[in-house]
Amino acid sequence: MTDPITCPECEGSKGTRLGRLFLACQFCGGTGQVGGDNEPAERGDQPPPSPPPAWRHKVWTDPWIASQLGCRYCLGSRQVAHVENGHLVSVPCQCVSEEAG
Ligand SMILES: [Zn+2]
Ligand SMILES: [Zn+2]
Repeated sequence: MTDPITCPECEGSKGTRLGRLFLACQFCGGTGQVGGDNEPAERGDQPPPSPPPAWRHKVWTDPWIASQLGCRYCLGSRQVAHVENGHLVSVPCQCVSEEAG
């Protein structure tokens, strides 16, 4: 048991805002903090290793690749799929509103 700290994964933002969707941070469970009674290392059951979100992939650290692929959220499809309450929904990507606005 340690003092709660700001989640290093989402830096306290609790997740990623994506249009009208809010994807809760998987590391802190959307609380924005870890430690205290929200200690991932003390839950006992290790979650299976999962790849990082696509937009966190290390490929994006390469500026040439990033410029070639365009939007890192939708990869140019202008739509982002997301499971919400058990339903697969597609919403316009944030890059759409950026271009419109
Ligand atoms: Zn987090
Ligand atoms: Zn996009």
